[in-house]
Amino acid sequence: MHTYESLLAAITPTSGETREVFDPATDELIGTAPVQSVDDLNAAIDKAEAAQVAWAALPDEERVAYLHKAADAIEASAEALAELLSREQGKPLNGPNARFEVGGCVAWTRVPADTPLPHEVLIDDESGYAEMHYRPIGVVGAISPWNWPMMISIWQIVPALRMGNTVVIKPAETTTLSVLALVTVMNQVLPEGVLNIVTGPGRTVGDALTRSPKIGKIMFTGSTPVGKRIIEASAPNVTRLTLELGGNDAGIVLPDVDPAAIAEGLFWGAFINTGQTCAALKRLYVHDSVYDQVLEHLVEFAKNVPMGVGVEEQNVLGPLQNRAQFEVVDSLVEAAKASGARVALGGNPDREAPGNFYPTTIVADIDPHNDLVVEEQFGPALPVIRYTDLDEAIRLANELEVGLGASVWSADRAKAQQIAARIQAGTVWINSHGGLHPMVPFGGAKQSGYGREFGVEGLKAVAEPQVVSG
Ligand code: NAD
Repeated sequence: MHTYESLLAAITPTSGETREVFDPATDELIGTAPVQSVDDLNAAIDKAEAAQVAWAALPDEERVAYLHKAADAIEASAEALAELLSREQGKPLNGPNARFEVGGCVAWTRVPADTPLPHEVLIDDESGYAEMHYRPIGVVGAISPWNWPMMISIWQIVPALRMGNTVVIKPAETTTLSVLALVTVMNQVLPEGVLNIVTGPGRTVGDALTRSPKIGKIMFTGSTPVGKRIIEASAPNVTRLTLELGGNDAGIVLPDVDPAAIAEGLFWGAFINTGQTCAALKRLYVHDSVYDQVLEHLVEFAKNVPMGVGVEEQNVLGPLQNRAQFEVVDSLVEAAKASGARVALGGNPDREAPGNFYPTTIVADIDPHNDLVVEEQFGPALPVIRYTDLDEAIRLANELEVGLGASVWSADRAKAQQIAARIQAGTVWINSHGGLHPMVPFGGAKQSGYGREFGVEGLKAVAEPQVVSG
């Protein structure tokens, strides 16, 4: 069991190149992160390759037991992990944030551990006999982003280990300590060499991971442009890929809703993790007949949600994780204002204050093709677009190249389900947005990526299907 201090000490590098890490809420120095090289990566891949044979040869129930021990270890150090995550990523301890994320790591370890994937008998009759087995692929390379750094890393690591692969993970540069701490805690109980981490820049270490002929499968979560680069880099080796890429999720509100009742769900759908969530509600289309009431209730709810330094218990919204993302949000909102859109809440950051705080912002009466609508803002600024014709709203929801999630808000579930069938997205939620479950497959349509994580589909995605016939 770690305290915050002992965890930080355990991951602080004693040699090699390092980088200082600052709290995005206060700009205070919180620690130093290792910056590793392609040589370090190659050594880690060799280690993972060597460990894979024995790991795959273990009886399944022993791998399952190891994963439960890893979940126990995360639980034992949960508070230290949450504090480090809060200080490095910026997300508050409370609300659907740091403690919630560490709890998610435990759930997304135990559930895949307990999900069996036995072989299937495909045919067994006079025409023949054939079974489908799900074999390990070998070494899985994982590359994770900075928004939910621990939980997304777990989504990549655990199913891969469950299926008899070993893993080399490269975390995002700006949330290195969080993933390093998580892996360090899991490695208190996992066998040597099974789970490896290499830190360093995406363009060198990440790139080399995707080009390595020793990597059988890449699990990537991040932006669409980097996803496209990974497709090219991995093509010569025909490396298997699961790509969880960017999104710009639409929500469509029908005229029959109760505006007061849906305000809280709309708010958290859009502002969870201060808007830095792949499958957050990023553009909201509201029917003209309820537009003013929905906006009013949403603003009323939003203005009372406390934003501030993450380790202060009352806060449930935090800063942007890095200054570059602050600039993205700031410039999109400024451009929306200049276009004549109406700022119903926020939109007035203190650019000189410490930290990357951008206030909760809701922009009304905005053109459906404004950049704040069609670009992924990835921060706390929600555009609310007025519509009169449902077909037009569906057309607008579908017109972008991305399609991760979407939502329909209506008192009529059957009608909402019919609309869901017309929306191009990997998940369509009804009367909520963004909720995930470890047994329900998650992933994108169109340029939001391909492949699915979670559940039985997620286990199959990190296995090599093999038919044994005869
Ligand atoms: P990013 O693409 O900039 O970085 C993601 C990771 O890729 C980092 O670890 C980075 O170091 C690495 N990387 C960068 N260049 C690389 C290269 N050439 N080769 C290999 N690796 C490289 O993304 P980000 O800014 O960290 O995350 C935000 C984006 O991620 C948003 O677009 C968001 O929608 C998306 N995202 C998607 C999901 C999903 O499940 N679909 C989940 C979370 C975030």
